[in-house]
Amino acid sequence: MMIPVVKVAMPPKDQLLGQLEEVLYSGMIAEGEKVYEFEKKFQKKFKLQNCLALNSGTACLHAALISSGIKPGDEVISTPMTAEPTNTSILYTGANVVWSDVDPETGNMCPDSVEKLISKKTKAILCVHYAGYPADIVKLREIADKYNIVLIEDCAHALGAEINQSPIGSFGDFSIFSFQAIKHMTTIEGGIISIKDDSRLEEIKEFRWFGMQKNISRQEVDIKRVGYKYNMNNVTATIGLIQLDNIDTLISKHISNSNYFNSKFLKHNIPHASILPGSSPSYWLYSLLSEKHQQIMDALKKNNIFSSKLHKPNCDHTIFKSSRRELKGLDKFYERLLHIPCGWWVNKQQRKLIAETVIEAHNNARND
Ligand SMILES: *Cc1c(COP(=O)(O)O)cnc(C)c1O
Repeated sequence: MMIPVVKVAMPPKDQLLGQLEEVLYSGMIAEGEKVYEFEKKFQKKFKLQNCLALNSGTACLHAALISSGIKPGDEVISTPMTAEPTNTSILYTGANVVWSDVDPETGNMCPDSVEKLISKKTKAILCVHYAGYPADIVKLREIADKYNIVLIEDCAHALGAEINQSPIGSFGDFSIFSFQAIKHMTTIEGGIISIKDDSRLEEIKEFRWFGMQKNISRQEVDIKRVGYKYNMNNVTATIGLIQLDNIDTLISKHISNSNYFNSKFLKHNIPHASILPGSSPSYWLYSLLSEKHQQIMDALKKNNIFSSKLHKPNCDHTIFKSSRRELKGLDKFYERLLHIPCGWWVNKQQRKLIAETVIEAHNNARND
């Protein structure tokens, strides 16, 4: 059995199946009380505000961008070092993506690079906490305020991370989380958007429901703006409610395995991604940054341990061709990047084997 880099976390059957059966045969399987209960419980647990549940993280990004007033021809400054939905969602609005460079030691958006790219057309900054390592969102917040533009936090990798004891997702005007299959927490598909400005709450509720208000009869309701079929349903929300009971344990395993790697690799001089001072990553992935990544990958594979870069710099896709520019920080990060397994499924014996294999492969490669 190979140790994977990512893995689906399902609650134990005895916790899940009874409640799942109940909701499936309740006669109320679409958006309803379970969804609203899930929103409240998630919001409280992660100390956020105005949380709404949608059917994906991508839908949440789309909602955030539309609610920010992004229109065709506008510019959104974003990072190429992420999963594709971060950036394809910008194209849904007709806006153009402008690539910020990333810090070569963290893989996260570089605030200096962002500030240089601001133009009259810039309407928003979309920041990702890549792999669960917090980005410098405090500086990005200052820049967004200085130029009066919107800040959106994509927290899909970073559930449970913190900066200066403040939860990830509490800095942006909007922040989004994903519950897609392999994230820290899954509802099969799903997402949460947290909204800073109370007055945007109702419009996003309409946005996820065809543009209609849900509590008005179909004869009286009036659609004034385009909306989509983006609601979460009671079945996936039920899974989410149960997942929330176990999520602290799962996240703390990602963190303790990664802290173990950090201390081992520091001691043996194995280069790995830096942590923003004052921040606590939640390590959806652990990032090595070694020139010997290929040798390390091969050595891990011999021990039945997967490792991977997992993502492709989004700027390399044809659809983003017109946004291409030189990104030296990105190149330097990506060419050394290797994600090794650090999640809840990695036990103490396995993490020891992973660390020893990495250290040995790195040192042998150096002596070649
Ligand atoms: C998974 C992911 C998303 C999109 O979430 P979905 O729920 O799959 O739509 C957005 N951004 C990042 C960084 C992701 O990893």
